[in-house]
Amino acid sequence: MRTIAVVGASLAGLHAARTLRAEGFEGQLVMVGEECARPYDRPPLSKQFLSKGWTAEQVALEDAQAPLQAEWRLGCRATGLDLGRRELALDSGERLGFDGLVIATGTAVRRLPLNAVPGTHVVRTLEDATALAAALDAQPERVAVVGGGFIGLEVAASCRERGLAVTLIEPAAVPLGRVLGAAMGGAITALHTARGVDCRTGVSVLGHEVDARGRISALRLSDGSRVAASVVVVAIGVVPATDWLEGSGLRLDDGVLCDETCLAAPGVVAAGDVARWHNRRTGETRRVEHWDNAVRQGRHAARRLLDADGSRTAPFEVLPWFWSDQYDRKIQLYGSALAHDEVRVVQGSAEDGRFMALYRRGDRLCAVLCVNMARALPPLRSLLETGCAFDDAVASARAVAA
Ligand code: NAP
Repeated sequence: MRTIAVVGASLAGLHAARTLRAEGFEGQLVMVGEECARPYDRPPLSKQFLSKGWTAEQVALEDAQAPLQAEWRLGCRATGLDLGRRELALDSGERLGFDGLVIATGTAVRRLPLNAVPGTHVVRTLEDATALAAALDAQPERVAVVGGGFIGLEVAASCRERGLAVTLIEPAAVPLGRVLGAAMGGAITALHTARGVDCRTGVSVLGHEVDARGRISALRLSDGSRVAASVVVVAIGVVPATDWLEGSGLRLDDGVLCDETCLAAPGVVAAGDVARWHNRRTGETRRVEHWDNAVRQGRHAARRLLDADGSRTAPFEVLPWFWSDQYDRKIQLYGSALAHDEVRVVQGSAEDGRFMALYRRGDRLCAVLCVNMARALPPLRSLLETGCAFDDAVASARAVAA
């Protein structure tokens, strides 16, 4: 291969590119990124960037000592893909030929009509987080957060750490109930209520009000109540960024559909939030929107691209893992949890906000949730990796030093 294009210059794309070089690819490597910023780490954007005043330098992902040998096209959006000609269309009007392609365009935030109103924010990019941090610096009397997923809860925690009043609005009965189940979602929500977040659950936003300058001033909720807030953060999830691939011939179905090795078409691989594949380890065909997956899948996809006939590449099979920092709590989930899995707290207590819970599917352990029990996680990870029986896992987990 002479030229490889990586579309998406974020975590998955950067790790794919580094791996291509590490595995001996010496041809032309072109990094196409829609944002103007050099690659940066997103997890701190809703945490330290908002609560601890972190700067853009502190979230930079590149290693100044070992710069990636690549041609950077930043502030440049891919608008189309011609698989037959092996060409990308760019928003500059240019066409970029390639022999190999890594698709790592991630996701785009979902928005509400009220996002068009000044004072309303999202948190996806460095630019978004910079704008929100500046708005919080102005000490608004109240911040309203719409959506009680990870971004919403982390933003709520960051605002409380700044001493700001916060109202969280979530349409489901329990924030994170869909991800962690009702009981554990309730335990995480209780952390926020105890720290003064006004949690409004089971309600949605019906309308908004603006002040004399046309800036957001209040939200009207489905229960008839009104929340006065001059800063609103909408954190209602993301969609895979595949619009530019419509009509390309790639299979698009909630992401770029890949085979088990991350191959989407001959000479084309996908990685990170945008890639949907059958993960043999979990038995699920889905996308995974976690940091750890973007790193590993980026590396895996790069190796697959260099392996022309695929004979040296194993299926990409990983157990999902993620963490979330909220106040002084480190929340970690390892494995695959579904809302209807049975869940059992085996150490600590959910009321104290320091605990370990195991998830059961059939007779197997399928996930482990730790809140401020990071030391206890590694042995449990091993049990999960080996597909341990649930009852054996409970006995082992109770014996682990936490
Ligand atoms: P998310 O985790 O999908 O959560 C979105 C939340 O918004 C859900 O609670 C959802 O409720 C709610 N919602 C949906 N539509 C709504 C509406 N119209 N009005 C009010 N609420 C609504 O997405 P996110 O928190 O925005 O995070 C974005 C991405 O960043 C995700 O991929 C997430 O995994 C990732 N992220 C990861 C971490 C981490 O791993 N630590 C941290 C932050 C972000 P339902 O569930 O009932 O639909």
